Amino acid sequence: MRPVGFNFNNSYTSLTQFMMAKVLPTKVKDPKLVLLNHDLAKQLGLDFSSLNDSQLAQLFTGNTLPEGSEPIAQAYAGHQFGHLVILGDGRAIVLGEHITPDKKRYDIQFKGSGRTPYSRGGDGKAALGPMLREYIISEAMYNLNIRTTRSLAVATTGENVMRDTVLLGAILTRVAESHIRVGTFEYVAIKKDLQILKKLLQYSIERHYPEIKDLDKQAPEFLKLVMERQIDLIIDWMRVGFIHGVMNTDNMAISGESIDFGPCAFMDHYDPKTVFSSIDHQGRYAFGNQPTIAQWNLARLADAILPLLDEDQNKAMEVGEEIIHSFKEKYEKKFHQMMKRKLGFITDEAEDAVLIQELLDIMEKNKLDYINTFRDLMNEKIAGENLKDFYNKWTQRINKQNREKREVLDLMRKNNPVVIPRNHKVEQSLKEANEKNFLSINNLLNALKDPYTEHSDIILYQQAAPESDKKYKTFCGT
Ligand code: AMP
Ligand code: MG
Repeated sequence: MRPVGFNFNNSYTSLTQFMMAKVLPTKVKDPKLVLLNHDLAKQLGLDFSSLNDSQLAQLFTGNTLPEGSEPIAQAYAGHQFGHLVILGDGRAIVLGEHITPDKKRYDIQFKGSGRTPYSRGGDGKAALGPMLREYIISEAMYNLNIRTTRSLAVATTGENVMRDTVLLGAILTRVAESHIRVGTFEYVAIKKDLQILKKLLQYSIERHYPEIKDLDKQAPEFLKLVMERQIDLIIDWMRVGFIHGVMNTDNMAISGESIDFGPCAFMDHYDPKTVFSSIDHQGRYAFGNQPTIAQWNLARLADAILPLLDEDQNKAMEVGEEIIHSFKEKYEKKFHQMMKRKLGFITDEAEDAVLIQELLDIMEKNKLDYINTFRDLMNEKIAGENLKDFYNKWTQRINKQNREKREVLDLMRKNNPVVIPRNHKVEQSLKEANEKNFLSINNLLNALKDPYTEHSDIILYQQAAPESDKKYKTFCGT
């Protein structure tokens, strides 16, 4: 195969062997490339133009492996809906770490490439629908300027995958700063081997938080930095109405990237209780619960690294608790600032908190669309009586700060997307893709490329789902 620019340098394999298993992707019958992310390839310094369709399909299903790859499945544990379980990559294989021309390190991972020692009862495979869904949502998140793993390609395998029905098998190629999860630390903590735990901490710091690598007391600083990134991430999710859907600790990345897009979806009408996932019966991962759950997950990270927070274990508990307790105040402060930006508030005014709450209450009570409400505000086109009173107060508040209208609108435009992957549009494109028609999905991906700018191509993608879609349900792609 001609070189495409893969430049592997695999560091994870230097960690303790019980944290991973060497395993090759299972060869597939009849590979076909469905999507290839040219923009991402370029950013990674990869050029696939010398490969023909068949070679591309072989590459993105693992039938041929790029030179320098050393495929592994990673072990991890995780609290799933509150219960600790030993997991690991049951249907994913990391090919290796690619170093870009500008020296950034990314995991290249296959999802759906066959059984591994961590597959438990599963078949290690993935169906086309969920892999395309991850592609759509992760790329949408990237374009929304939200930290996320990305999707380089989707290829079908030519094999059937048995779920409730027979589905087309597919493999997603995922790109991530790393796949170290809170659950990776939990997995190592269960072993109760301080040296291994230290080594994982060291490794994670070098890879994601090198700014603290020369400090004496690293563990508390690490916990604080992971927390900061998670807060920023959740704030971004809340800003655009994203519901992850399954925020188990194995689905929370130490890098602060959004990861593992299973039953995730964007909220349409504003309601903090919104849950789409068919398995989340209690609403544990509802839209409005996401900050609380992030804090809970970070507490599990604190538990896992407790022996490293301080040599004195009582002191370690104190240190951990203090950091975790600071979450709420930090989060609320950032949430307030984020909402102010959405509303175009540049100065600080005493009434801001009340105004923000008033708008949220009106949207919830009247089931107003989260995205389109802010869009209407930006366009100064308020339809209906519900928002009239608020609109007058908002106008007064905007006038009070004595700033150019342009400056206010610029701020709002940067923070309020005018298009998101609407559930009905995603479903429609997946349905057609399952019938091997990929036009809708490509149109959708195009419409989501520049989500902060109004233009004629997105009009069809801006409308909320028809009333019949209100009971929208999503499923884990397992
Ligand atoms: P997820 O819900 O995708 O985060 O997956 C949770 C756990 O189940 C992870 O350890 C996965 O690797 C594993 N898993 C999910 N689907 C499969 C499958 N089809 N075969 C084997 N393991 C799976
Ligand atoms: Mg997962």
